Amino acid sequence: MRNKIVAGNWKMNLDADEAESLYRDLLNKSLGQSDGKMTLIFPPNIYLKDFIEKNNGSFEIGAQNVNAQKNGAYTGEVSASQLKSIGCSWVLVGHSERRTLFNEDDKVLLDKINSALEYGLNVIYCCGESLNERKELRHKSKIQSQLAILKAFSLEQIKSISIAYEPIWAIGTGKTASPDQAAEMHDFIREELKILFGSEASDQTSILYGGSCSPSNAEVLFKCHNIDGGLIGGAALNADSFRSIIEFLK
Ligand code: PEP
Repeated sequence: MRNKIVAGNWKMNLDADEAESLYRDLLNKSLGQSDGKMTLIFPPNIYLKDFIEKNNGSFEIGAQNVNAQKNGAYTGEVSASQLKSIGCSWVLVGHSERRTLFNEDDKVLLDKINSALEYGLNVIYCCGESLNERKELRHKSKIQSQLAILKAFSLEQIKSISIAYEPIWAIGTGKTASPDQAAEMHDFIREELKILFGSEASDQTSILYGGSCSPSNAEVLFKCHNIDGGLIGGAALNADSFRSIIEFLK
């Protein structure tokens, strides 16, 4: 059975007091991890250690980014070994904001995943097409090429990787993919994973939907056969809306 996951990506939001207040709200809501259902949060790095120390087991905590190098002269960067050493268990790789704003290409992403796996971190690998790519009917080939880098990993390694399908045109725009659009892409991703890794590994890989997912659309999206939860941005910044989304996980 694959895990059902709701993950909150806080991005570069919330000052220390606001972050602490949201974190306390989440702790009080006993989000629970059971029966293959998981809740993850990805706060900014400066809050990670404190939050991990105060965690009551309601959720797992991950980092929004990781550098591929173990240590050294990489000013401003944080490595997988450092994240592991503070008890971090997940990392996001390939988010469209990292790909576009920070020019992260396939080689960089591959190195990041390699390093994360080497230090025992689980990875959410994000993929997604732009609006133009969709209009030009290149959305599937785009996803196919983004998934192709995963070929480098073994069947054992792929167990630590989940996928987030995040159409770029839906991220932070309020324009969610329709259930049909999302279902079509999730089915496609499942098939691609099957080609790359075989049926068993494909069946066991969680595929999350991301892109303006909210309490008003999560229920219908999460009912789609190959949607195993969501990667949530804006709606993860409010404990009530985040919790409502989690409750739609079946
Ligand atoms: C994201 O950044 O991963 C995301 C899905 O953001 P939002 O939910 O705000 O569209």
